[in-house]
Amino acid sequence: MGQEANPFESLQVQIEDAAAYLDIDAGVLERLKHPERVLELNLSVEMDDGSLERFRAFRSQFNGDRGPYKGGIRYHPGVTRDEVKALSGWMVYKCAVVDVPYGGGKGGIAVDPGGYSVSELERLTRSFATELRPLIGEDVDIPAPDVNTGQREMNWIKDTYETLENTTTPGVVTGKAPSSGGSLGRVRATGRSVMLTAREAFAHLHDGIEDATVAIQGFGNAGYVAADLLADEGATVVAVSDSRGAAHDPHGLDVEAVKTHKRETGSVLNAPDTESWTNKDVLTADVDLLVPAALENAIDKQTARETSAGMVVEAANGPLTPAADDILTERGIPVFPDILANAGGVTVSYFEWVQNRQRFYWTESRVNDELERAITEAFDGLVETREQYDLPNYRTAAYVVAIRRVLDAYREGGEWP
Ligand code: GLU
Repeated sequence: MGQEANPFESLQVQIEDAAAYLDIDAGVLERLKHPERVLELNLSVEMDDGSLERFRAFRSQFNGDRGPYKGGIRYHPGVTRDEVKALSGWMVYKCAVVDVPYGGGKGGIAVDPGGYSVSELERLTRSFATELRPLIGEDVDIPAPDVNTGQREMNWIKDTYETLENTTTPGVVTGKAPSSGGSLGRVRATGRSVMLTAREAFAHLHDGIEDATVAIQGFGNAGYVAADLLADEGATVVAVSDSRGAAHDPHGLDVEAVKTHKRETGSVLNAPDTESWTNKDVLTADVDLLVPAALENAIDKQTARETSAGMVVEAANGPLTPAADDILTERGIPVFPDILANAGGVTVSYFEWVQNRQRFYWTESRVNDELERAITEAFDGLVETREQYDLPNYRTAAYVVAIRRVLDAYREGGEWP
C-alpha cells in the first residue's frame, strides 16, 4: 500500500481542482478546505486486569452549512488527526453530492479493536461518548459506524448519551441495530450504493454490467456487500482481498463461500477452490471493474500505472492518491468517486434519522427504493455537470456539484457580525 499522500492534503487538492472551475473568493475557498473545529482527546480507560490505558481520539466538525455535522467513528491503529480531518471533509461533500441535508464530521480512536475484550471496548466507547456528549446531538452532530465499528458501538453511544441526558433521542447516532432504533437496510447500504454506481456507470459507458469481471480490494462490510450485490447483477467477481491476502477464481468466486471462510479463519486467503493472490495482484488485475474497498491511499501512482482495470468505483474513502487520480485520468480509465459511490451509508443514515424523529419505521424495500433514487439522481447529476463544465473526470464533477451546494447554503446564511 502506498503511503505517499497525507489524506488531508489529498482532500484539499480535490477541492482546489473543482474550485478552479467555479468563481470562489480566496477566503471562501479557505473555508471550504479546513475544518471548523477538531476535538483531540486522551481517553484513559480501565483494562480488565485493572490497569489504565491511554487512547488518542478525535472528532472533527468540518462544515455545518447544510445541516448537522454527520459522519462515522473509526477504530483503527492508523487513525491520526489529519486522517480524521480528511474523512470529515469528505463527509461534507458526500452529503452534498447526494443532497442529504447534513454537513460533515468524523471521529476516530487510534486502537486495534482486535486486541481488546468486549467489555474493554465498551468502556472505551462509553468514555468517548461521554467526552463527545456536549458536542453531539440529533440537531448538532450525529456519529455513525465506520471502519471496525458497527451496530454494537452505536448502541453503546446512544445508551450513554440518553442516560447522561435523561432522554430518549435515538437520532443522536445512526447505524444502530433495528431493535435500538436502527433502519432496515442500513448495514448493506454502502455496498448497495457501490453496486448502484457501478450499474449506472456500465449502463452509461458500456452495454451494462452483466458479465463484467470485478476485483474487490477489501472484504469488510462495504467490500463484501458490493461483491454480493454485483454478483446478483450478473457480474463475475474474480478476486477479493483483505489485509492478509487475496482469493482468485477466473470463473467467478462463490461470494458466500468466501465470506464463510473469512468468518471461520479470519481471512479470504485459501478459500475453497480459489487460487491465492496478493493485494497487488487484485489492484492490477485485468478486469472490467476494480473496487477499492479498504483504506486510503490503496492505489498510488505506481499501482495506477500498472493497473489493467477498465473502470474504478471507490467503496473506501480516499483510496486513490491525487497522483494516481491524475494517471488514471490521463490513461482514460474512468473513476467514480467515493463521495458518490459509498454515499449509500450516509443516505440510509439520513433515512434512519428521519424515522427516529418521526418514530415511524419504514420497510426495507422502501429504504432500498429511496436509496436507489438518491444514487441514480446523483449519478445523473455528475454526468450532466461533467458535460456542462467540460470537466476532466467524474471526481471533479462530483466536487463541482457538492461545492456549489455548500456555497449556496453558506451564502444564503448571510453575514454574521
Ligand atoms: N462512515 C460512513 C461514511 O464514510 C457513513 C457515515 C454516516 O452514516 O454518517 O460515509
